[in-house]
Amino acid sequence: MKGCIFCKIIKREIPATVVEEDESLLAIEDANPQSPVHVLIMPKKHYSTLLDCNDDEDREMIGKMACMASRIARNKGCHERGFRIAINVNKGGGQTVFHLHMHLLAGRPLSGRLG
Ligand code: 5GP
Ligand code: ZN
Repeated sequence: MKGCIFCKIIKREIPATVVEEDESLLAIEDANPQSPVHVLIMPKKHYSTLLDCNDDEDREMIGKMACMASRIARNKGCHERGFRIAINVNKGGGQTVFHLHMHLLAGRPLSGRLG
């Protein structure tokens, strides 16, 4: 998608610290981390929001994103203490980059409150 910052990162037109990558997903360190561990997991295919995910292929991709997030949490040693995964949807949901991504947050106490 032209002008999409995450598509540019996926195409290596903009630098990012890659945490993990496979044929369909890329995980990078967040440039403005909200916790000691803050990783963004995204599909290489451009979806603006979660609302664009509907078919079997999309369902499989979202499952893979969750599994990659969980694997990264384990690799970073934060699985036992606990972590949070979140997808912000649209402006009111806190989304600022309109290329679907999942946040993995860990390494500090995360309250039961989401906001
Ligand atoms: P959102 O608010 O859309 O759910 O999350 C966007 C996230 O992307 C934010 O946490 C922000 O810090 C991060 N971000 C925005 N631009 C860049 C960038 O160019 N590189 C990286 N690594 N993260 C970015
Ligand atoms: Zn994109």
